Amino acid sequence: MSSFSSQLVSWQRQHGRHGLPWQGADVYRVWLSEIMLQQTQVATVLPYYQRFIAAFPTVAALAAASQEQVLAYWSGLGYYARGRNLHHAAQLIVEQYHGKFPRRYEQILELPGIGRSTAAAICALAWHERRAILDGNVKRVLARYCGIEGATGDKAVEAQLWQRAETLLPQRYIAIYTQALMDMGATLCTRSKPKCGECPVQAGCVACQTDRVHVLPTSRPRKAVPEKHTTFLLLLHGNDILLEKRAPSGIWGGLWCPPQLEDGQGVVAGYLQRNGITVSERTELDEFTHTFTHFKLHITPVLLCVEHKPLQAQQPGIIWLDVEEALNGAIPTPVRMLLEKLRRS
Ligand code: SF4
Repeated sequence: MSSFSSQLVSWQRQHGRHGLPWQGADVYRVWLSEIMLQQTQVATVLPYYQRFIAAFPTVAALAAASQEQVLAYWSGLGYYARGRNLHHAAQLIVEQYHGKFPRRYEQILELPGIGRSTAAAICALAWHERRAILDGNVKRVLARYCGIEGATGDKAVEAQLWQRAETLLPQRYIAIYTQALMDMGATLCTRSKPKCGECPVQAGCVACQTDRVHVLPTSRPRKAVPEKHTTFLLLLHGNDILLEKRAPSGIWGGLWCPPQLEDGQGVVAGYLQRNGITVSERTELDEFTHTFTHFKLHITPVLLCVEHKPLQAQQPGIIWLDVEEALNGAIPTPVRMLLEKLRRS
């Protein structure tokens, strides 16, 4: 083993993360954890993972569920395309592989929502196959350790990082080594304030030895984050609220949200008139901001108490739900926050 991999393996055994529910588990659990851990930290994932596995203990159970049931368990975790892809992949596994998770890397790579690094992590962790991973954290570790300049999102830089990731792979202990890389990226070689003093590979780390830890990996020039404005119509009849199912793709695809008026789409009065809705009370609530990876959404909620449930509620994809019941459904985080506020008041 290279000194990098042997040092990482011994460090993981002593100081890495152990006892996580998907460690040493079957491939379905490893796959689920890898998808949930994309863009999300372990502490956040743990309760979602436990609830999800309790509800869908096998690939077959996941495939048999409706997308809405799956998204209800994903509700609050964000990046909902992950949940939709996971569900779709489970259905493909049932159709194409009789419910047995495919054994070959190339087959895994063809499943929706699984890229090169995730497929490799599944093979390495579940089957101890010698495969290199390169997620965001590992890119940072390798860019620093190998002293690679340039933004890690650039194709040429990424190719260089993949090449290093392959070269550094040990012949043995591949699952421990893979876990070690992930643990290092999450706990030692963090974006800001890395703990180089505790790092097992400090002596060989180019960034540390050349005093470039804080400039590697090279950051892209910051672009201004686009800002969007929207209005949420909280149509209430007693304790019931009107929700609409979003189209299947997009950021909140397949989730339930209050009717939403985008900028320029018209004012609240126009919406009410178009849908023949009579309102007995109208209150504009405080605007708040929800931040996505690529933009900020400023949301103005307008509370509207309606006299009668309008006819539109009988259309497919539109539902009146008790607020309490809606909170158990497939809803995104800002809607959850608003419903919780409504429940309290
Ligand atoms: S020495 Fe510091 S910068 Fe280098 S790999 Fe270790 S934690 Fe990262």
